[in-house]
Amino acid sequence: MTARIIDGKQVAEALRARIAAQVATLAYKPGLRVVRVGEDPASVVYVRNKDRAAAACGFDSATQVLPEATTEAELLRVVRALNDDPAVDGILVQFPLPGQIRQEAVINAIDPAKDIDGLHPLNAGRLASGAPGLVPCTPQGVMHLLAAAGTSVQGARAVVIGRSVLVGRPVAQLLLAADATVTMAHSRTRDLAAECRRAEIVIAAVGRAELVRGDWIAEGATVIDVGINRGADGKLVGDVAFAEALPRAGAITPVPGGVGPMTIACLLENTLKAALARRG
Ligand code: NAP
Repeated sequence: MTARIIDGKQVAEALRARIAAQVATLAYKPGLRVVRVGEDPASVVYVRNKDRAAAACGFDSATQVLPEATTEAELLRVVRALNDDPAVDGILVQFPLPGQIRQEAVINAIDPAKDIDGLHPLNAGRLASGAPGLVPCTPQGVMHLLAAAGTSVQGARAVVIGRSVLVGRPVAQLLLAADATVTMAHSRTRDLAAECRRAEIVIAAVGRAELVRGDWIAEGATVIDVGINRGADGKLVGDVAFAEALPRAGAITPVPGGVGPMTIACLLENTLKAALARRG
């Protein structure tokens, strides 16, 4: 058996098309504001891609670029002004931030109703307690990919490797909310291979190239690889040994071209959701 490859680009494109169609029915353009501090090259590219995707979907999107030497107080003033601006539905402050600014202070300052990254403690708490709210983008993307793969989540045994606030934890909570039986694995998990072999769904969000070997994958399991690692040859590789897993899995995401393309589409989905919640 060879696994079906879950095409993240295609799934993201379909999601963006659905968002654009819904935005076209609104009497206003949902407002997205991205704040970038400094010139981190990866952030420059990522923010440019966000702007393009947002404009293509009919959003009112703009990016504010602040100098590298911006103080925390200055950035918080910018965030509060966006909180108070009625034309703004979603605020995204691009990370990483320069060392003088505490990420946590910025997350806490964003109006939870405009927190399209879903990282504010209020939104994290809502997710943990099973209440509706804004959900972090990459985990939401994972759920879309499972749906696109036709994987039945209800009642399934799922293993999430990684317990970060950004990815692992929210993925586990979303799976739980969808009635999976969830195991959260991490660096102290005693026998990771055995945990994976029991799973019908494996989500790898670790950041260790090809940690998950092919013989850890149960026949027919769905494998979603969130990891992005740079191999010795400079190429991007995931957390899963893709070539080994391919003959065993039922469906699998590639790296690149799996989870990565979903993140921006889910950011737009969150902005639309925030706009609908605020403006009706
Ligand atoms: P992170 O904050 O570094 O968390 C990594 C997690 O992996 C931790 O919970 C850690 O366990 C666990 N871990 C580390 N080594 C392990 C091992 N040998 N066995 C089992 N678990 C282990 O990373 P993150 O922000 O969650 O990101 C994870 C990966 O996803 C990275 O490669 C990142 O680049 C990628 N990512 C991709 C996207 C996308 O759009 N595709 C978005 C976000 C992140 P402990 O808690 O015990 O330390």
